[in-house]
Amino acid sequence: MTQPFKAPKRLLMGPGPSNVAPEVLAASAQATIGHLDPAFTAMMEEVKDLLRYAFQTKNQVTFPISAPASLAMEAGLVNVLEHGDTAIIAQNGVFGGRMADIVTRCGANLVLVETDWGKPVDLDKVAQAIKAHPGAKLLGFVHAETSTGAVSDAAALARMAADAGMLSLMDTVTGLGGVPVLVDDWGVDITYSGTQKCLSVPPGLAPFTVSERAIQVVKARKTKVQSWFSDLNLQLGYWSGQGGRSYHHTAPVNALYGLHEGLRRLREEGLEASWARHAEAHRRLANGLQGLELDFVVDAPHRLPQLNSVWVPAGVDDAATRATLLNDYGIEIGAGLGPFAGKVWRIGLMGETAKDDNVDRLLDALAKVLGRGLKAAE
Ligand SMILES: *Cc1c(COP(=O)(O)O)cnc(C)c1O
Repeated sequence: MTQPFKAPKRLLMGPGPSNVAPEVLAASAQATIGHLDPAFTAMMEEVKDLLRYAFQTKNQVTFPISAPASLAMEAGLVNVLEHGDTAIIAQNGVFGGRMADIVTRCGANLVLVETDWGKPVDLDKVAQAIKAHPGAKLLGFVHAETSTGAVSDAAALARMAADAGMLSLMDTVTGLGGVPVLVDDWGVDITYSGTQKCLSVPPGLAPFTVSERAIQVVKARKTKVQSWFSDLNLQLGYWSGQGGRSYHHTAPVNALYGLHEGLRRLREEGLEASWARHAEAHRRLANGLQGLELDFVVDAPHRLPQLNSVWVPAGVDDAATRATLLNDYGIEIGAGLGPFAGKVWRIGLMGETAKDDNVDRLLDALAKVLGRGLKAAE
């Protein structure tokens, strides 16, 4: 007979999912109720308000998409792009590449602006691309590139798009909750995130927020959005507060209980305190890694505190080291992606994981596994 599944105990220090607080798990374990039950729709209104706080926005259209963050990326693009439109995508890692792929699937013309992996998006190159393609409709970029651990100047990129009369689309899946994300101050039009990174909620939902300017572009489309599920005109019938709610799809009720609790906890801690906690955990980790002679991939000014990429030292077996950390110490760290596969470890300090005790546990385990002994951190 198949036995009930029992999840092993893990300390999640990879690129997501991050550790989930027991309070969030307990919230999700409550009895399922109807997704049009007034008690549930009232909770949904709170989720929308809490998301506006997390994103620092007054955008009316702010809600969690019932899907992983990749679908929010796709929703952002398919709602505004039509056949023959031009989109400029800045790529400095895996996720910009995914955006570019979606742009071409929309039948739009792709202008790809590439920056070396591990560096922030090159603003001069983007400025040149905007100059060369003044009719482009959208500039897409990744604020916090999880494949490398580099943070880009999202405020500057959004301003460049706005100055050129283009829409901006920002992926801040790894950014939200870990570093400042100021949607209204920066003037970003379409922004999305995920639940399983710095929000420390199980994977499967994608916070999403859209400016009025972008909503007007969606409403002015000449053609229907290619995706039925992602069409904002239809999604908003369920998520917008006005009038009666119409059925669109069955909301993932229990997952949304968890998101509500995770966002409530973030509100209680306060964004500034959460950013400071991530920065402090990063400093502690960076100190310890220096003692272990592990070198960062990204230059100090552009490092994300919540995603620390280090080079796998020469002569050390990447996969075997990660397997030992997982099997003997219960700690998961991330492998490198794409050109970084086998060369880089990605150490996540996201959400609940970003705590001194967890940092110390990993440093201790790494020291033992690498057999070097912890050198005193200054
Ligand atoms: C994790 C991640 C995604 C994709 O999120 P999924 O929930 O896995 O679909 C997209 N962009 C970035 C920057 C990410 O870190």
